[in-house]
Amino acid sequence: MAATPKNRNRKYEAVEKMLTEQRDELSARMNGRMGEVYIDREPDDEAALATDSVTKDMAAATLERERRTLQEIEGALKRIKTGEYGVCGSCGEPIPEARLKALPWARVCVGCAEKRSSGLAVD
Ligand SMILES: [Zn+2]
Repeated sequence: MAATPKNRNRKYEAVEKMLTEQRDELSARMNGRMGEVYIDREPDDEAALATDSVTKDMAAATLERERRTLQEIEGALKRIKTGEYGVCGSCGEPIPEARLKALPWARVCVGCAEKRSSGLAVD
């Protein structure tokens, strides 16, 4: 068993596995939703048409939210591969493990996230 690279960072192996699973699950769910949003039905009256349009809007909004989450997950997976995962993208400090548990695709530490959401310039 000499095939295991010694310098491979195994610290985030569990996170990588979990994120990969989440990504696959999310993609599958999104593929199902695409059908809801884009299939053209032929409602036979105005009311049905309106209901159909609301359903589509909701599905589209959910799809948009899921698309963003998927992007975050893919970004995190990329950072695990490049070794940037778990490091704050703003101040360069390590992101505490508790935060990564709560938000596995966190890009910045709590301090920087707070500065950002309060509207203060970070960079
Ligand atoms: Zn930071």
